[in-house]
Amino acid sequence: MLQRYAELKARLPAGTILFYQVGSFYETFEEDAKTISRELSIRLTSREAAGEGRVPLAGVPHHALSEHLAALLRKGYSVAIAEQRPHPAKPKQFTREISQILTPGTVIEEGVLAAGESNYLAAVVVRGGVAGIAVVEASTGEFTGTEIPEGELDAELERWSPRELVVPERTAVESLPVVRAKISPAPRWTFEPAAGEQTLKRHFGVAGLKGFGLDGKAALTGAAGALIQYMTDLRGGNPPEQVVSFRPYHPSSRMLLDEATRRNLGLDELVGTVDRTKTPMGRRALRRWLERPLLSAEKIERRLAAVDAFYGDYMLREEARELLSRVPDIERIATRIVRLSASPNDLLALKGALETVGPLKAALDAAAERSELLSQALDAAGELPEVQELIGAAISEEEGEIIRPGYSAELDEARSFRDSAHEWLSRFEAEERLKTGLKTLKVGYRDGEGYFIEVGGREAHAVPDHYVHRKALKHNARYVTAELKEHESRMLTARDEVERLERRILSEIRAAVKENVPTLQLTARAIAAIDVLAAFAAAAAELRYCRPEVTEERGIKIESGRHPVVEHALETPFVPNDAELDQDARLQIITGPNMAGKSVFLRQVALITLLAQAGSYVPADAARIGIVDRIFTRVGAEDRLATGESTFMVEMTEAAGILNSATERSLVILDEVGRGTSTYDGMSIAWAIAEYLHDEVQALTLFATHYHELTQLADVLPGCRNLKAAVEEVGEEVVFLHRIEPGAESSSYGVHVARLAGLPRQVTDRASELLARLESEGVQSFAD
Ligand code: ADP
Repeated sequence: MLQRYAELKARLPAGTILFYQVGSFYETFEEDAKTISRELSIRLTSREAAGEGRVPLAGVPHHALSEHLAALLRKGYSVAIAEQRPHPAKPKQFTREISQILTPGTVIEEGVLAAGESNYLAAVVVRGGVAGIAVVEASTGEFTGTEIPEGELDAELERWSPRELVVPERTAVESLPVVRAKISPAPRWTFEPAAGEQTLKRHFGVAGLKGFGLDGKAALTGAAGALIQYMTDLRGGNPPEQVVSFRPYHPSSRMLLDEATRRNLGLDELVGTVDRTKTPMGRRALRRWLERPLLSAEKIERRLAAVDAFYGDYMLREEARELLSRVPDIERIATRIVRLSASPNDLLALKGALETVGPLKAALDAAAERSELLSQALDAAGELPEVQELIGAAISEEEGEIIRPGYSAELDEARSFRDSAHEWLSRFEAEERLKTGLKTLKVGYRDGEGYFIEVGGREAHAVPDHYVHRKALKHNARYVTAELKEHESRMLTARDEVERLERRILSEIRAAVKENVPTLQLTARAIAAIDVLAAFAAAAAELRYCRPEVTEERGIKIESGRHPVVEHALETPFVPNDAELDQDARLQIITGPNMAGKSVFLRQVALITLLAQAGSYVPADAARIGIVDRIFTRVGAEDRLATGESTFMVEMTEAAGILNSATERSLVILDEVGRGTSTYDGMSIAWAIAEYLHDEVQALTLFATHYHELTQLADVLPGCRNLKAAVEEVGEEVVFLHRIEPGAESSSYGVHVARLAGLPRQVTDRASELLARLESEGVQSFAD
């Protein structure tokens, strides 16, 4: 067993966990066993193996396999399954063959994938300083890519956050891109442009790649080809047929949000707050739109106009959303259709989805006149009446039958034969009872045993001679007759025939529907877009958002803006705040005590900008957003102990990234930079960073700091302003107003916050005393 295991294991890409079927268990051995025991909390045992000492072993029962596979895939592992099969040469013996290889980026199984999230697989190759990056969503067939300078590769990958990254084998570790993905090496030659061209031409069945915008793009062609080849190889030579076309994208058409920024701004929470979509593909699209906002005012305007069409008409919006709520995950069903694994239920669901396209078009007819984007989406959505008809005529909605009666004469005949065989049996039973006079006589069936006549034990002596005894049970005995045996074989044949025909017809229907997969994918995408647009409108109406004015001109002006997430999390009313950033006020230093509302303000400006550029309404009374090319954030001292990097080092690395990449069209959010080191050190660095941003980068910057000294920058830098989070002192109490207003805050109220937090009175009193002394005499006096 271990020998076969080792053979199979050697055929798999390194690091793939192999599950080896032994009866009703799937076993793993050696390192794999240790891994799954650690990752899945499965008991690690060991077994004596000839000549090998004790071998570590961990297994899962077959009914729990898929759940465990899903968990491993989510953790970024690749897994393979070796199934037990009858040995071709030695009867009664088993052999094992690899039946499936699943990797985090190629898996399409329901249950592993979260419905609202995309699961990207990327391939990357660098040729002469140019990086080609190809990305595929295996479950939906979305296939795209671009070429960028090598230096931008990490950032570009970060915004896709692929689950798995395919790279040329033997790529040196130090030249691998920095991503949190499973790295899967693939043969180097598959990344060659010529090989890529071959692969893609064969895959798409085209003579040239011009139509895909791949002309003259050697690195991208290599990456895209390698990706298709990789997916094909994983599935034993079956190409990923759900991938029906390739669309290059221009990295400059979307805003870049790196992983840290997505986390700092709380993008997941934002999605949670505004998501009003009704379909799974809409949910994925909404996330995509928010993760990759647009950079062209014209394109954003198109989205806003469509949102507006829904916003202004409650009835229309709700009618559309009611229809959408009946649409299942067409994208992923289409993928299963391509793989010919779609179930009859998938087909019925698809029919239901297509049936809503007509009414949706009718409902949105008038609105489409007001929005070009809507009318384009509606045009792209196909009703596919012939597919609806085919599925309607063929697939049965009854339990226990796949194909409708009346669809195939051949099947109907086989069925009636099978049914008459059933009738024959009941007649046979009645007749035998009559003939023999046996009151307990019954006809029965058991798998493995077949049909039999059962007679109660007391009557057993009276059975006719031609009854052949088969089995004696406690209370009765079983017999067969020649007539019954003969009928049995006819009966079983009829049953098999029905099943065979049903399977054949089902695969014919799948094949016919498969012809329409490109239209299905376009329809799915169109419905996703309509869903998001309607959802943006619904959120805007429910959450009191306004339509932002989006312009190519630089500058941001927000009236009474709110933080989209925090405003719902508070028990007290949320205090709206204005914001205005432009060339003359491009650097804004925000001071104020802890807990006064600085961070919330910073993030709300960024989130409003992001929402606007995604094409959504925004939480404000009015907003004018001059498009920003990128939002950068450097927020708080995060806990990165796990990676062993010092907080200060992380902070400075991120700050360096911002200073080196931001432009005057960027929005930069800095919260408490310089905290991880001593006061003077930190303050000096913060000061220098602020100056550099103001003088060199000229980005629109909001800089919250506890270094009050930084407020002096406003006196020397023409584009610098001070803001403070207002507080009111009422006797000994300090009240946070959460209002951001012009000016510098001079006292820190740290001692006050300490008191609120419950530090002993003795400590806070002493701290006040020290503070007073420090403020008047400087640090030296401390030890006195
Ligand atoms: P800081 O960054 O100044 O330390 P935060 O921005 O984290 O403070 O805000 C602290 C808390 O104050 C928030 O968790 C929230 O409960 C409340 N808060 C902040 N801004 C507002 C606001 N505009 N309206 C109402 N409450 C707010």
